[in-house]
Amino acid sequence: MFSKILIANRGEIALRILRACREMGIRTVAVHSTADESAMHVRLADEAVCIGPPAARDSYLNVAAILSAATITGAEAIHPGYGFLSENADFAETVEAHGLTFIGPTAAHIRTMGDKITAKTTMQALGVPLVPGSDGELTNLDEARDVASKVGYPVLIKAAAGGGGRGMKVAHSEAELAEAWSVARTEALAAFGNDAVYLEKYLNRPRHIELQILGDTHGNVVHFGERDCSLQRRHQKLLEEAGSPVLSPEERDAIGATATAALATMGYRNAGTLEFLYQDGQFSFIEMNTRLQVEHPVTEVVCDIDLVREQIRIAAGEKLGYTQSDITFSGHAIECRINAEDPDTFIPSPGTIEVFHPPGGPGVRIDSAIYAGYRVPPFYDSMIAKLIVHAPTRAAAIARMQRALDEIVVEGVKTVIPLHRRILADPEFQRGDYTIHWLEQFTSRNR
Ligand code: ADP
Repeated sequence: MFSKILIANRGEIALRILRACREMGIRTVAVHSTADESAMHVRLADEAVCIGPPAARDSYLNVAAILSAATITGAEAIHPGYGFLSENADFAETVEAHGLTFIGPTAAHIRTMGDKITAKTTMQALGVPLVPGSDGELTNLDEARDVASKVGYPVLIKAAAGGGGRGMKVAHSEAELAEAWSVARTEALAAFGNDAVYLEKYLNRPRHIELQILGDTHGNVVHFGERDCSLQRRHQKLLEEAGSPVLSPEERDAIGATATAALATMGYRNAGTLEFLYQDGQFSFIEMNTRLQVEHPVTEVVCDIDLVREQIRIAAGEKLGYTQSDITFSGHAIECRINAEDPDTFIPSPGTIEVFHPPGGPGVRIDSAIYAGYRVPPFYDSMIAKLIVHAPTRAAAIARMQRALDEIVVEGVKTVIPLHRRILADPEFQRGDYTIHWLEQFTSRNR
């Protein structure tokens, strides 16, 4: 086992990784920008190294500074968390070239899945069902027109390098296709430096259901069931559940078997998530994330597993030590992402946290790096906490989340807590009757 790990991230996920390390007796190195000098991950780590100014490209994305920090502190492995360098294949490769362990998949697998076109063709070859669409990259508008008329409108033009919901445009008819085509390409080029696009049928009422996978370096691959992440705004998740309110155990077993067989054939190692759209009982693969997800805690609580600990064990070469039949699902979990944003306009609201009172009691977990007096910097993601509840049934989990949302106090910055309260109280949400389009309709109805 490693004796020292460098955590190449900030905020709640840096703390989450630090907690796993501490329980495993592993020393931690925090890295931070000058804007994060008094951040919780810096305060709690065994050692901390400043890696640059506030802008992420000069600090949390600064590969040379992070590797220097690892070298001078004698860290043996690097955990990238999510976001920043977590899905950067060149970074994973550079880490290993320096004789350090990257806590994640191989650089080759990150690269394959980082290009959504290659990801789809790879998964298709392994028997995973896809959304109908183009066979790979589209090179011109005429091709797009042909494919669109075959699969039928509406269609979605998507960036091969896409992420965070960017570089994605819907066309409801042929008249809208040219515009969607050029906007998606322009956005993709600006955001990712790559204007390769492909086309998918735009599903009208899917749910976003994803599967948590772990593979070790000895050929064992298991899944930890699904998360329903259909509640999204601008393709960004806001509330997640495990399991999905609509999936039967038989459907979970079936898609789980397909997914684990595919990843075992690839020789995939460490944590990964296969994202699907689910409509009319059909799963269609959209992309794979080769890292820990923000929403991993809902899986942890229903499966009673520490996914970060597992990532570290796998990176150290240990065997999983359990098989699919050992993994059981207990009760229901819900996570609310607490963003420092206006709950109606979603405009970020950085500033000083004047009061913070976290909720507690049975079945409540809060993953956060804020404290009273903490200044939320304007430079990074606006998520400041994740509130997770676990209860025997979905109805009990909803009641527990409502109770926790009543207890939590965050003053000084605006947050989306009032929106979560409204969602949890809504009869359609309570029935589990929602698709990926529900939240945007709900917020425009409830302005
Ligand atoms: P990103 O990597 O930018 O997050 P994804 O491919 O994961 O992009 O898609 C993000 C979200 O966009 C999905 O969760 C879903 O809500 C929506 N989406 C993606 N593809 C489709 C599709 N073919 N039809 C309908 N909605 C889609």
